[in-house]
Amino acid sequence: MAVKLFGCVCDQFHSPGAGLGMAGDRVSVPVPFYVIEHPSGVAVFDCGLHADMMQADDPYRRRLRSQEMDVSLAPEETVTRSLERLDIDPAAVRFAVLSHLHFDHAGGLNELPNATIVVQAREWAAGSDDELAARYFLPRRFFDLGHQVRQVDGEHDLFGDGSVTLLPSYGHTPGHQSLQVRTEAGDYILTADACYNCRTAETREFPAHFDGPAMNRSLDALLARRGPDTLVIYGHDPDQWGERALLSSSRG
Ligand SMILES: [Zn+2]
Repeated sequence: MAVKLFGCVCDQFHSPGAGLGMAGDRVSVPVPFYVIEHPSGVAVFDCGLHADMMQADDPYRRRLRSQEMDVSLAPEETVTRSLERLDIDPAAVRFAVLSHLHFDHAGGLNELPNATIVVQAREWAAGSDDELAARYFLPRRFFDLGHQVRQVDGEHDLFGDGSVTLLPSYGHTPGHQSLQVRTEAGDYILTADACYNCRTAETREFPAHFDGPAMNRSLDALLARRGPDTLVIYGHDPDQWGERALLSSSRG
């Protein structure tokens, strides 16, 4: 069985455009996560939003709204429903590789009871530190649930065969990471929030509260991996999610 990669979307995030380096007063962007079928097990890269975010009065949604942000989450768009559409039992997911610990990347962990979290050690350390967790918006409610945790330091070959490689891309948060996946259909670099969208990859206008110099270095390293058979997929690009079909078409 070859390695297969599927792109899923856990509904939408709403924000002032400036917060995402985009034009427009208000923008709505997809909240993607990815499913990797490997002969040694299923991994996800990020896991979208917590299902509680369907409720308008969820405390974290209230907090987002107080900062001019919000999410939408329809019942059909949860992590569980996306996995079921791929005929994957959420309890069978072996690895939850997390780009970082923000609410829209780690939120669905509670639906993956048997997954081992795979995260950069410096991200987990930040999430475990009260002051850093507050400063970088790492809400422990979503990720500190008793899962097994594999903490890695820098580049990491998940299955030991070069097919799925974690790539450190610090800057958005202290231990942000991206992912390279090799499939029969080609190679993919999944930046996650190392870069929100194609436009930011050009302008390098990163929101001010992130570490801009570190983000620039990280993004340079990721883009250096681009090639004719290597597609870069950005973190929250509403235009690029045409690529979703491209990813999904490798099923079967
Ligand atoms: Zn983020």
